[in-house]
Amino acid sequence: MYSAFKFAEDSSSFLSYAGELLKGDLEQSPTLEKRRMRILTLEMITALKKGLIALLGSGGVVVLYEGSKNCGEQLYHYTVREFKTTGPQALETLKQTFETTGWGDIKKIELDLNKATGMISVKNSFEAKASSRSKAPACYFLRGLLEGFIRAAAGRPIRVEEEKCVAKGDECCIFTIKS
Ligand SMILES: [Zn+2]
Repeated sequence: MYSAFKFAEDSSSFLSYAGELLKGDLEQSPTLEKRRMRILTLEMITALKKGLIALLGSGGVVVLYEGSKNCGEQLYHYTVREFKTTGPQALETLKQTFETTGWGDIKKIELDLNKATGMISVKNSFEAKASSRSKAPACYFLRGLLEGFIRAAAGRPIRVEEEKCVAKGDECCIFTIKS
């Protein structure tokens, strides 16, 4: 398991971890940078996202997107420190991290880090699940996270756009990377 998120040694999978959590054993909680993580249910995330956008409108979208770029950068630097991997290998770690955390399933990564172009497809985006039916792509957190992570991996500015999104009825979320 290459995920950036660490679980207690006797917890071999996220499911067994979740089982322990249901029993109230918080010692099994995953950690990042040796700090215990806090977990929210999908309903809590939905309420937070809806509240933010209801209050701030498009400003709420900007907050989610801009804030998560920093999260992506931090995650990349942590991945490099912890796993001594860079570039494409770091992206493989990111794929595992998505699965471990339940953010979504990265199905395909086509990325040229030198040209800083490519695409990433994600199934089961937690954020699309937490969104109402939308006319536009709605995975602002994941878009920013990917942008921050890939920007740090490429070592130069890039942009990530979400072209397709489950929240607007597409089969999966597709993010394109542009230099
Ligand atoms: Zn999406």
